[in-house]
Amino acid sequence: MIARFRRAVIAFFVGSPTLPYAISGYPWPGLSKLAEESGEVIQVLGKIVGTGGEVEHWDGTNLRDRVSEELGDLCAAIHFFVDKNNLDRDMIVAQYSRKRQLFEQWHNADPIKRDADRTSR
Ligand SMILES: [Mg+2]
Repeated sequence: MIARFRRAVIAFFVGSPTLPYAISGYPWPGLSKLAEESGEVIQVLGKIVGTGGEVEHWDGTNLRDRVSEELGDLCAAIHFFVDKNNLDRDMIVAQYSRKRQLFEQWHNADPIKRDADRTSR
């Protein structure tokens, strides 16, 4: 109800209606793009699983390139969403650091993966 009123006030003063969750929307600008780009990453990951980890997809595209592009899109959507919604960047970076460190610990605790890392460098 309050969000609808705010949208109406913005539409009155700005002169055009705003779509909630769109890039320029209110509330939560960029939410729909963040969801869309997250889904596109998931889609490519599904293709990688579907090919059994092969880089070449049946449609002739390179899945390493496609996942790289979609991760770039997702990073842009994340940063846009964080900035436009005034989220606490320090909190996000701190959580990122904790989680990344945990992933490294898990990775390094597995001798098979650790050895594979060494040979692939
Ligand atoms: Mg995309």
